[in-house]
Amino acid sequence: MGLIPAAPVHEFRPEGSGEGKHILILGAGLAGMAAGYELTKLGYNCTILEARDRVGGRCWSVRKGAVNEETGQGQHKAAFDEGLYFNAGPSRIPHHHGLTLHYCKELGVPIQVYNNVNENAYYFSEGKGPLSNRRIRVREVHNDMRGWMAELLAKGLDGGKVEMAMSREDTLKVIEYLRAEGGLDIDKLYKASARRGYIESPGPGDREGRLGDPLALAAMLQSGLLDPDFYNVAEYTYELQGTLFQAVGGMDRIAAAFQQRLGRLIHLNAEVSSIRNSDDGVKVVYRDGAGDKSLLADLCICTIPLPVLSNIDHNFSSDVSRAIDSVVYMNTGKIGLQFKRRFWEEDDGIYGGITHTNNQLTQLFYPSNDYLSGKGILIGYYNFNDKAVATGNLSYRQREELALDKGSQIHPQYRQEFETSFAVSWHKTKYSLGGWALYSPEERQSLYKPMLQPDRQVYFAGEHMTYLNAWMAGALESARSVVAALHSRVTGQRFSYPALGS
Ligand SMILES: Cc1cc2nc3c(=O)[nH]c(=O)nc-3n(C[C@H](O)[C@H](O)[C@H](O)COP(=O)(O)OP(=O)(O)OC[C@H]3O[C@@H](n4cnc5c(N)ncnc54)[C@H](O)[C@@H]3O)c2cc1C
Repeated sequence: MGLIPAAPVHEFRPEGSGEGKHILILGAGLAGMAAGYELTKLGYNCTILEARDRVGGRCWSVRKGAVNEETGQGQHKAAFDEGLYFNAGPSRIPHHHGLTLHYCKELGVPIQVYNNVNENAYYFSEGKGPLSNRRIRVREVHNDMRGWMAELLAKGLDGGKVEMAMSREDTLKVIEYLRAEGGLDIDKLYKASARRGYIESPGPGDREGRLGDPLALAAMLQSGLLDPDFYNVAEYTYELQGTLFQAVGGMDRIAAAFQQRLGRLIHLNAEVSSIRNSDDGVKVVYRDGAGDKSLLADLCICTIPLPVLSNIDHNFSSDVSRAIDSVVYMNTGKIGLQFKRRFWEEDDGIYGGITHTNNQLTQLFYPSNDYLSGKGILIGYYNFNDKAVATGNLSYRQREELALDKGSQIHPQYRQEFETSFAVSWHKTKYSLGGWALYSPEERQSLYKPMLQPDRQVYFAGEHMTYLNAWMAGALESARSVVAALHSRVTGQRFSYPALGS
């Protein structure tokens, strides 16, 4: 009967009408479109100005013919085969991002499970220690590390070398747990088990399977496999714990579904160049194919990423202006590599998941869709910070060469099977200029807080207006939050989102 809101989404049921009010929304990314979608339901007259020739902003799946423009690099056009794509921006939806899943359901975007953790993918430590330049299955490192650590602690506890404020009875229970956790034998020693896989798999007749020797702890340490490059991010990070999802056919299907609902309210190729508050509204100047134009509206929601907004004329307060100019965004980049054959599946048995390396590539993402089909695109690097800056400073051709050169050390099939690539450096990409907003705890107070209030007629929304940075959920939650604030102001209600206590 629609009486019970679907958990775990926060309740959102504004009442009253916004009829007669014109709201200008800047940016047709997920935040702008979700705001427009909800405001339209409430009767507002919305106009959405979008600088690009497509919607979605960072929610972008690169397909044949897609074009990107980076500062200093010019345009870059994707030459992938029809039907193939890779997610240059978001690729994962955590199961607890209820609002993202809510919109997928409401807008009819089918989702599928995304395989983020794959014990059969590789760790590859380039140029470091005894295990240097060897691809090692994730399961070998995980289980050997777990085994050695459990053995160390169990022996220490048993021999009284590790002091813990526990009774002998409890200590014995911990040792028993460590034996199970690490796969230790009766003497609390770690020996290889099937957990770390086989060098000859079990089969028919007398083929019982053969285990390899564990990797020595010292070798793993010296090769940097305990360094931050190889941390167990996927398993431990709250946002990356299973179950994860993705939109079937590309994450941009979410953006496309919003666009379908909003239709002519979205003006593409409309680049905003000035935002000016006045006593009775807001005036926005933008440029489209026909030249400079201006629009007046009662209120405005600005979702333009801050590094881009920083170069736009405005008359915001000094606190807001300082925030816009100061918030730092993540440097990050990806490259999609199209191959004739899905050799990572056919030859290596890798179906989805991530290979980690300490070199400039950082990570290789294997697609979690269309398994065992013909061709495929894998993400040849997904890097951050200095590595992303260095990669982004290369030409598109050099980035491809880097991905092929370093990637073929892990997958020798690369050169033979490679067809075409497309690289995106988000910090250099026009209309984005960064991956996502980064705030220190101090900046949450000094920079973030002033933007949470509207600057007269202008509200700020987008992933940067939440604690869900780097997530679509941030864009969507911020849109609802701003719609609630704006609607309260127009209708004189006291309506907060999320509702207190929810
Ligand atoms: C590499 C990468 C990986 C990510 N991975 C994930 C993931 O796995 N899961 C997940 O949930 N999220 C992920 N995200 C985060 C997610 O993509 C973003 O949080 C979300 O898409 C941001 O939406 P937004 O509407 O706030 O901003 P944007 O998408 O940036 O939208 C802003 C819009 O404003 C437009 N604009 C800019 N300048 C102007 C102008 N002058 N005039 C008019 N319009 C303008 C832009 O073109 C854009 O369309 C990832 C992001 C990146 C970059």
